[in-house]
Amino acid sequence: KLGQKNERLQVEIAHRKAIEQRLETLAETDQLTGVYNRRKFDELMNLELRQEPRYHRGLSLAMLDIDHFKEVNDRHGHAVGDAVLQELARLIESTRREADSFFRVGGEEFCLITFASNGANLETACEKIRKAVTEHDFDKAGHLAISIGATQYQDGDDYDSLFKRADAALYKAKRTGRDRVVIV
Ligand code: GH3
Ligand code: MG
Ligand code: MG
Repeated sequence: KLGQKNERLQVEIAHRKAIEQRLETLAETDQLTGVYNRRKFDELMNLELRQEPRYHRGLSLAMLDIDHFKEVNDRHGHAVGDAVLQELARLIESTRREADSFFRVGGEEFCLITFASNGANLETACEKIRKAVTEHDFDKAGHLAISIGATQYQDGDDYDSLFKRADAALYKAKRTGRDRVVIV
């Protein structure tokens, strides 16, 4: 009798754990694209920032923004725009390195937490992603480009300072002609 009760309890616990796991996944996933969301970005970025001074993994942040995305919506409609976001997320997920984490942080803005031993290596990694996007033929929308701004962790950096630098780099990439990578 006790054995049976115990077994039922085990099943119940496993069931609850599965639900918890599902809720956690839901909370950290972007609904449209299935990649990590902004909330997960904040969490992981803060974790990496705490570890970087000890482990020196070359923590780097890249911000990616689709060029002239508004035109995709205007020309083909919002549904095609949504499909482009999904396709882009899938493409970058399959292009990024294993240790990288990829997030949708806003409408058509994405972040990549990556690791690079120096600025040149960071640039190479970002260029690979930019190139993969320009070479991709998007369903209905055809060819698109992205701009990328990226920066490496520096001593004393916190979330705001790192984010600000990457954002400034992205802004520069936009201002100087788009479809390019700027490292600061
Ligand atoms: P830029 O090259 O300067 O980045 O130009 P842009 O047109 O990409 O940028 P802008 O900020 O002017 O427009 C972004 C557009 O992204 C406007 C908005 O309607 C669209 N957008 C944001 N989130 C979504 C979404 O979830 N789905 C769709 N279809 N469009 C979205
Ligand atoms: Mg934008
Ligand atoms: Mg844009």
